[in-house]
Amino acid sequence: MAALTSYGVGNKVGGSPKSRIIFNDPKQPIEIFCKDKYMGYFIRGQILNVREKIYDSHFPKGYADVSYNITVLILLSESYFTDRDENPTICMDYPGFGDFYGRTKEEFINIQKENSRSTYPTLKDIHNKHVKANKPLEVKLEQLEIKNTLQLLQSIKKKKNTILLYLGIIYDSCGDGKTPQAVLEQKYHLDKIHVLPYYLKSFDRIIEDGTPSNRDLSIIFDHVHHTVYNILKHRTLSKNDCNSLIGDIAELGLRWADAEGKVSSRYLKILVAFNDKSRKHPEPYYEFYSSFFNDLVADLNAKEKIWQCLACGNIYKYKKGRKYCSLTGEGKNCSRKYYSKSYYKKNQWKIRPKAKVAMRETRALYKDKGVEK
Ligand SMILES: [Zn+2]
Repeated sequence: MAALTSYGVGNKVGGSPKSRIIFNDPKQPIEIFCKDKYMGYFIRGQILNVREKIYDSHFPKGYADVSYNITVLILLSESYFTDRDENPTICMDYPGFGDFYGRTKEEFINIQKENSRSTYPTLKDIHNKHVKANKPLEVKLEQLEIKNTLQLLQSIKKKKNTILLYLGIIYDSCGDGKTPQAVLEQKYHLDKIHVLPYYLKSFDRIIEDGTPSNRDLSIIFDHVHHTVYNILKHRTLSKNDCNSLIGDIAELGLRWADAEGKVSSRYLKILVAFNDKSRKHPEPYYEFYSSFFNDLVADLNAKEKIWQCLACGNIYKYKKGRKYCSLTGEGKNCSRKYYSKSYYKKNQWKIRPKAKVAMRETRALYKDKGVEK
């Protein structure tokens, strides 16, 4: 979903202040619509602004207000509807998140007209400058750069009502009303999402003696899970799976923070093991959790502690200038040569079977959907 970067929806890397999303009503999500369908499915999405206090006695004021944007993109079938009674919102602070009313912008606006009890802004609100309401966002299909992953193709084949396309989180801002934002970002890494898992896990470590906890932050992550698992019925990761994932990543982040810039071979071993395990699950909800880990890896890379092969993603101890695995160093050749035509010709018997299966499935689906390709 790289193309959503221009809206500041995807990843903020390289994003300009202009692309920052404006929330007129910070407690409601911004609704995303698309004029085109994809393989017969409507495209819907929401961006939620999560603004919570994170407590840490190391911060100058003991806490910081940190704001993140969480984006969900899904495919909706013709027959989709939200049954709010069956899946009531669990987080009262963010009531509209996960509802996905209306498959198109027109349907959404009509529902607002009909439902006066809705917590959503009415059509009048959206156009009234003085009422705080979020404006729906309409994106073009090509901006989404949807990739036909096996998971996506299989979900379409099974005719699922809702298919999770993308779930992502990006840093927005931080502050405590006194300390300059740059200090909080640089010294306490509050602009890095890899610190979040630690604070998510830390609330249950604090003794109940009136010490502020990070429970609020944890509640919104429960709400995201509820949305994915119960409302979208995307059941690849249970609550326990998520907790153990977050726990593993929190542990790695905490050890890095405590390591005072030193990376032990034992730490590297755990990092590599997690990396190998996580790349076996290329699906959107897992990738949401992997993004915290990827952020940690990027930080370790920037601090010249490790490097990650650009081709295969394997992690190694830092070697200056190294970008790909080499036969002499890492035991396999991942250099650009790997992708050259001559290499492909020589080794196609090794590469092709995998690509062939994916292509066959894609073609069959295109044919099925009447898409010319
Ligand atoms: Zn490699």
